[in-house]
Parts: sequence; structure tokens; C-alpha cells
Amino acid sequence: MTQRTHRPDGIIVALDGPAGSGKSSTAKALAARLGYRHLDSGAFYRAITHAALQAEIPVERWDSLTPAELDALEVHGAADGAGYHMTVAGRDVGEAIRSERVNAHVSRMAAVPSVREWLMDALREAGARGGLVADGRDIGTVVFPDAELKAYLVCAPEERARRRLLERGEPDVAPEALRAEAARLQARDEIDSTRAVAPLTQAADAVLVDTTGMEFGEQVERLARLALERAAGG
Ligand code: C5P
Repeated sequence: MTQRTHRPDGIIVALDGPAGSGKSSTAKALAARLGYRHLDSGAFYRAITHAALQAEIPVERWDSLTPAELDALEVHGAADGAGYHMTVAGRDVGEAIRSERVNAHVSRMAAVPSVREWLMDALREAGARGGLVADGRDIGTVVFPDAELKAYLVCAPEERARRRLLERGEPDVAPEALRAEAARLQARDEIDSTRAVAPLTQAADAVLVDTTGMEFGEQVERLARLALERAAGG
């Protein structure tokens, strides 16, 4: 296949969408299918949130976090073959950043302009050579507005909640638990879509993919076909 992109390692694929729409798992599988690297940008916001909570920085102070204070949190995302490995002060935080406490606070942190600015270089650096599938909220609109393929993934709220609970291995997918999880996801979406800086929104040139009734493999294949077309200049 002739590469028609100017990037040495391949195109950039940007996947955005609300919480639980299947972006990260799709992005990871798509990256593996294309032989690209996967960048889960949410993991970076989660690691900063986890570090700030650990450091007991009061939530009311987050809006005024300075670059020096953010540096002092020692949050790093190191490229490790297929993706990025998150650490805080040299410790692996892969699991800790998925806690309920981080879930409940991350959108608050991600709305802070200085935090978004602080992260931008690291995220853009990941795409410097291309060959990347990145997922998040503002990947196609702000981080990589020139991505060759942008997709916006959506999914019905109840289905998103069901997937989240199953992912966590929770046996109880009773209507009550589903409703509570759907409410938590929607609360996060509300903050992410209404914040002043880089709100969650579909880029004008993004392909809309509704994953509600779609099988996982089908959604990955559909995006892989589009990515291969775009990589070939289609
Ligand atoms: O993708 P994930 O659900 O792990 O993201 C966690 C949170 O990080 C989101 O709810 C959002 O507040 C923030 N985020 C963001 N911009 C991105 C990726 C994530 O604001 N590009």
C-alpha cells in the first residue's frame, strides 16, 4: 500500500465521544489491527487527577494549578510499544486511575485550562511521527485537527452503562445499578460538553459511528477499512 500521508509512520486516527461509548477499547484494537500505537488521552487526565487527590490538593484549588505544581505531581506517560504506560512519581498507576474516586473527579480536573495546556505538548508529541490511534474528547477538534481520519463514537446511555458494569466484572446489572451508572456517565458528559475549553463535540469532518447495536469486531473493521483508505490517500 502506498502511504499518501506526510507522516513517516502512518496516519493519525482520532476517536472522540462520550464516556463509555467504546472509544478506548475500539482505539486499542484498531491500533493493533493497523500496527499503530494507541494513545488513551483520558489516561493522562486520570493520572493527573489521581496524583492531585493523592497529594491532597483541595479541589477548590485545582483551577489555579500552575505548570510548576503540575510538574511536581510527576505524572508521566511513557511509550511502551503498543501504547502508553502511566506513572506517578515513578509508580505504575494503570489500575488506580480507574477508581470510582478518580471517575468522580476527573471531569473537574479536565476542565482546568492550565491542565489542558500543560498536557498538550505531551499528547502532540505522541503523534509527531503519525502511526497513531488516539481517543478522547477533543482529539479531532483540538489536539490533532489535521488527523486524516476522525470518528465520533456514540452509544445509547443504558448500553454504555451496561458495558461499563460488565467491563468491571460486576455481576449485578440490575436495572437499579444500570440507572445509577448511566447517571454517573451522563454527569461526566455534561461537564465535558459544557466546559469553556475544548468541550466534547463532534468535529465537522468526523464520521459518526453509533455503536449501540454493533458488534465490537464489526466496529473495529469498519474503522480499519476507513483508515486504510485514508492512509492510501482515499
Ligand atoms: O476517556 P476517559 O473516560 O477515560 O476520560 C476521562 C475524562 O478525561 C473524561 O471524562 C474527560 O473529562 C477527560 N478527557 C478530556 N479530554 C480528552 C480525554 C479525556 O477532557 N481528550
